[in-house]
Formats: sequence, structure tokens, C-alpha cells
Amino acid sequence: MDPLSDRTRLIASATRRGKGRRPVNPPVERASTLLSDSVADMRDAGQGPLYGIEGTASQTALRAALADLEQARDCWLVPSGLAAVTLPLIALTKPGDEILTTDAVYGPVRRFLTRHMAARGVVTRFHPPEAPAAGIAERISDRTRVILIESPASLTFAMIDVPALAAAARARNVLTVMDNTWAAGLAFKPLVHGVDVSVQALTKYVGGHSDLMLGAVSAGDPALCTLIADAVEDIGLCVSPDDAWLALRGLRTMPLRYSEQARSALTVADWMAARPEVARVLYPARPDDPAHDVWARHYTGAASLFGVVMRGGSRADAEALLNGLTLFGLGYSWGGFESLITLETPQMAWREAPPTLEGPLLRIHVGLEEPADLIADLEAGLAGWPQT
Ligand SMILES: *Cc1c(COP(=O)(O)O)cnc(C)c1O
Repeated sequence: MDPLSDRTRLIASATRRGKGRRPVNPPVERASTLLSDSVADMRDAGQGPLYGIEGTASQTALRAALADLEQARDCWLVPSGLAAVTLPLIALTKPGDEILTTDAVYGPVRRFLTRHMAARGVVTRFHPPEAPAAGIAERISDRTRVILIESPASLTFAMIDVPALAAAARARNVLTVMDNTWAAGLAFKPLVHGVDVSVQALTKYVGGHSDLMLGAVSAGDPALCTLIADAVEDIGLCVSPDDAWLALRGLRTMPLRYSEQARSALTVADWMAARPEVARVLYPARPDDPAHDVWARHYTGAASLFGVVMRGGSRADAEALLNGLTLFGLGYSWGGFESLITLETPQMAWREAPPTLEGPLLRIHVGLEEPADLIADLEAGLAGWPQT
């Protein structure tokens, strides 16, 4: 028999028999102190967590559901998606090591690498976002300890052939950590494709309602799991049961939101791509995207997030366009139920080699609204774009 699909498994973990009469979702247990009946009981590891920092029912259930989704041995919760990326890099490196990552890496991660890690003797080298897997592997040196993979990468959505890169890294004894936020643990399974550590911002699709900050780190190899667990314990990382409860609630419906939002995003992206004001749409799910082949080979779905390179126009034109829209929220993050739009041109300056674009770079996140309504809003906004 085929294994159950993700959307079934994410729900079946709530209704499993044999746990006694109970609510469907574990109630929020807020605790620092956990009481035992006797001193002997305090020593009995079989009785569950001994202190609140280890997490209570909500964190335990969320960790188990995410580990199952990622096909991981274990999963750790951290306070943000950013912390989900930084934790394994801290856990797996020591002074003198080198990290290799894309020049298009998520901006705050770049800051962590060049400020925090560099000050502690861990050097980062950046590869061109469009480099093929073999080209990235060629840059491995004797000091390279970790390749940090972000695919698609931030803002310009370049994709890496992750299975090929993971295999090349493994052959050189280099670890791979992948930021899998775009695939949400659904559309791509890094650990199944040879990646050592998969991380994601639960803030995005798992939370799904733009009211939660949380991250997850998943790994399969027992020795790596020990290194990550030790770092969590040493640093004192933990998340609140309320946040874990919210994330668990979001997780049950995530597959439906993810696929519906992707369908709408493709409709909006196709419409944008056909507009004369638009030079290019950056969305691997579209057949004319340079990353489409890699995406189609390895992914079973797409996030509802894409870039739009405008044709000509100034930053002021782009700001006027954004200000005039009525259905798109102006705000960062994505993966929630609401559509958002941002102007991303300024962030490109962080790169070693910023690409030359035909005009301002916008990023669109498509939510659960009716796509025809979103398109009408964009059409009205584009009416003011300067003719070229
Ligand atoms: C948002 C995001 C993060 C950071 O997540 P936060 O929860 O906002 O800290 C990391 N990586 C990617 C690719 C993201 O989009």
C-alpha cells in the first residue's frame, strides 16, 4: 500500500487511537516548573520533560508532526525562521571552517554570516546564484564544512539542482543545510534528496495567518541530531506553547492553502508576464523561467511567491504603484492568507554581484483572495506606469 499523503498524515496524527479520551488538539500547557510525585519520579526520564524549557504537549506534538513531514529523525523548534538557519550553522562549525552559500542568500542570514560568524573565525564564500551544482561543488575547499542551500534563492528565485549538489557535497565530506521555506516541507523534501539538515520558517505557510514567528530544524543522521540537540540545550533555545499550538493548528490545513495559493499565484504571474510594463516574471513554476526544468524535475508544487522585474520606470514609479493598490498589503514576510507586495530593489545592493535589471524589482505574495480581483487591482495600478 502507498504511504498516506502529507495532507492525510498531518491530520491523522491528531486522530490516532490509543491516547485516551482527549481534545483533538493538545491543550496549551504553560509551564516552567513540572511537578513530580516523589524524588524517585523526578529521576524517571520515562515521565516526560523535567523542566519547561524542554517543551510541553504542544511543542512535542508539533515537533513530531514536522519530523514526519520532513522524514527526519528529529525536529527542533526555534523562535524564528532566521534562528532556524543560524542554529545548525552554529552547531556544525568551528573556527577555521568555511561556509559556502549563494550570493542571493536571505539578507539577515548574510548579515549573520558576515558579522557574527566572521567574528568567530568562520569564513563565508558566496557563489553566483545561477551557478550549476557542479560549479558550486568546484568551489569546495579543504576548509569547507557546510554548504548552505537556499533554493529558490531570495528575491531573484534562482534554483539549484539540490540532489546533485547534496551528492557532490557528501562525496567531499561537506555537510549541507537547506533553507526549505519556499517548499514548506511539502513541495520538496530535502532529507529525502540527500541534504543533511532541512530548515524552514514556520512563520510563513505553517503559521499561515501572519501572526506568529517560529522556525524548525530537521535532521536525520544521529550524530548530526546530537550536535543540533546539544546546541539547542547549550544556548537555551525554546519556544512558547502558545506559538507551538498556533503552528500546529496551521499545519493541519497547510497543504490546502499552499496548493490553492500556488494556483492563484500562477494565474496572477501569467497575467503579469503578459503586460507590456513587465520585463520579466521570476517564478520557477512558469515554463519560461530559467529554473523551470530544475523545479519540474524535483518539486511537486510551488510557493505563492514570485518576483516581477518592471520594464523601465523609476523607484518613485514603483512606490506610486504600490501605494495605489487596494488589495495588496504593504508588508514583509509571506505564506499568510493575505496578498502582499514589496519593492525589493534596495536589498539587491547587499550582493557581491547584484544583477542588472530592466527596472524596479517587486515581490508579490498571493493569498487566498479571488485571483480575478487581485488582477483587477494590479491592472488599475499599472495604468499609471510610464510608457517606454
Ligand atoms: C522569512 C524567511 C526566513 C526567516 O524567517 P523569520 O521567521 O521571518 O525569521 C528565512 N529564510 C527564508 C527563505 C525566508 O523567506
